[in-house]
Amino acid sequence: MGTRGREIVDVDIEQLIKKLNKALADEWLAYYQYWMGAKVAKGPMRTEVTEELVEHAQEELKHADMIAERIIQLGGTPLLTPEEWYKETNCGYDAPADPKVAALLEQNIKGEQCAIDVYKELMEFVKGKDIVTYHMVLQILGDEIEHEEDLEALAEDLSMIGK
Ligand code: FE
Ligand code: FE
Ligand code: MG
Repeated sequence: MGTRGREIVDVDIEQLIKKLNKALADEWLAYYQYWMGAKVAKGPMRTEVTEELVEHAQEELKHADMIAERIIQLGGTPLLTPEEWYKETNCGYDAPADPKVAALLEQNIKGEQCAIDVYKELMEFVKGKDIVTYHMVLQILGDEIEHEEDLEALAEDLSMIGK
């Protein structure tokens, strides 16, 4: 982004870049958690759940792309190494060690709830001060809210099997 584009940002840009990089770490870890979860999933409703996990993985990757682009526009450097994902993440990584569909859903619901909190906080940080980042975060937050809902609906359906 050009000089003027940065001038209209009315927050501490270094602090904003730091927050965006932390979200970038979250998105990569979420991507991998979903992607791997879809590979290992076992149990009732596997096909439906797997489809949703694959779709969410793609959306987390899209979020990573949006965030990296914005960091570069702001004159920052996106995290360059996977080692930094673990160091910077807000929401961590929950390995899909238990491949049961219900366990995977529960892990990923937790992840989405963490993401919702992170983006809510980020929106408050840039509100009225950086319209472009605000707009981007609003879009991402909308997706995370949808993710949580999709997974909770699947978990609910799963819990009703045989009832
Ligand atoms: Fe995301
Ligand atoms: Fe998500
Ligand atoms: Mg979905």
